[in-house]
Amino acid sequence: MKAVIYQGPHEFTVEERPKPCILEPTDAIVKVTHTTICGTDLHILQGDIASTPGCILGHEGVGVIDSVGIGVTNLQPGERVVIPAINGCGRCVYCRRGMASQCEVTGFAFGMVLDGMQAEYVRVPHAMFSLYVLPEEIDPGVGVLLSDVLPTAYEGSILNGGVGMGSSVVILGAGPVALAVLLLLKKLAGPSQVVVVGRGQSRLGVAKMLGADHVLTCLDGDAQVVKSAKALTGNRGFDVVIEAVGLTEVLETSQALVAAGGTIALLGAHMYKCDLHLESLWLRNITLKTLLVNTSSVPDLLRVVKAGKIHPEVLISHEYSFQDIEAAYEAFKTASKHGMLKVLITV
Ligand SMILES: [Zn+2]
Ligand SMILES: [Zn+2]
Repeated sequence: MKAVIYQGPHEFTVEERPKPCILEPTDAIVKVTHTTICGTDLHILQGDIASTPGCILGHEGVGVIDSVGIGVTNLQPGERVVIPAINGCGRCVYCRRGMASQCEVTGFAFGMVLDGMQAEYVRVPHAMFSLYVLPEEIDPGVGVLLSDVLPTAYEGSILNGGVGMGSSVVILGAGPVALAVLLLLKKLAGPSQVVVVGRGQSRLGVAKMLGADHVLTCLDGDAQVVKSAKALTGNRGFDVVIEAVGLTEVLETSQALVAAGGTIALLGAHMYKCDLHLESLWLRNITLKTLLVNTSSVPDLLRVVKAGKIHPEVLISHEYSFQDIEAAYEAFKTASKHGMLKVLITV
């Protein structure tokens, strides 16, 4: 089979690999039909997140069950499944708390220590706990968004951020996860206002189309953004600040924008240390939440999508075939410049 292989920082190859086989009774082999590229893949290639040379990249995908181990009793060959970014054993102390991101056996592993989904087949450990049947009403492209983007957006904003009826929210960032947050908040959470701060006219255009109450461009400079955004809240700041970029300066902006009693919810991957301004925040009763997605929300999100409550396909801007995945990577590296959101890759 063809697979995208991590070779070390800044280098990957597309090579022939043997089809994976069942190693444990709890495994499933899934024929990947659709996958995508994530900002995390770029972090791996930049050397920010450690991976293993020789490992197949990718942690988002949809496929069809090819075979299952004898311990897998809830899935059949031929069933279409979502493969979540996080693989949980279902039995360790963290999995039993619904925190599979911290699983003591696998967890955040695909594309780093476990061969991932940018390949024709993938071996999925703990299949009974870590695969979800994709209802036939849901398009495979939307299924791919359920691997990571939608659960990250939901768990980061509504669960971790506590966005609820009447909340004022600012989303820092206009990439796929940021726009997924906007989509979910507008449809499911009832905030009083959502402001999006980002760059790239087409991405900000999508934000407007998804119902952002205001969009601001971060190209105006941090001080101006803080001033303009706070002015939209009577200078009180926002009940919830969603940091969906992962840069030190954006965390600085988050701290300047949070209201007393508010929450800063981090969705971005932070690779560098950042200052926490306790000298101005200690007396303002704020909460800071970090997140590695648990994907525990996938079953609920599947039901919401199946019921037609949200239409996340708007987050897919480009499609490629697997044989053009190198071109897809090249384009994704400068995604914001040409209005790229998620790329759907058909295997
Ligand atoms: Zn991802
Ligand atoms: Zn576990």
